[in-house]
Amino acid sequence: MGFARAAGRWTVHEVTNPSTGYCPDTDSWHAVRRALDRVGPEHPGRFTHEVVFRRCEECGERSIVREAEFVCVFCGSELPVAWNAGP
Ligand SMILES: [Zn+2]
Repeated sequence: MGFARAAGRWTVHEVTNPSTGYCPDTDSWHAVRRALDRVGPEHPGRFTHEVVFRRCEECGERSIVREAEFVCVFCGSELPVAWNAGP
């Protein structure tokens, strides 16, 4: 998350989900939004950069889905549609 201060106020100018530890799904934006709305700074209303994480059920590695291709970059197996990439 990136912050900027202008005209005496803090704003959020960047929010991303690429955390390789937690690997949050893109729908985690709703929790981020609730937290930001509670605290008050203006924010972009969405992730400014987001990635889709999935854990391969064949080899167990976590992959980033690229160009909507749900294929494991490690073993080539199909990745699940539903998020499963948590710790
Ligand atoms: Zn795999």
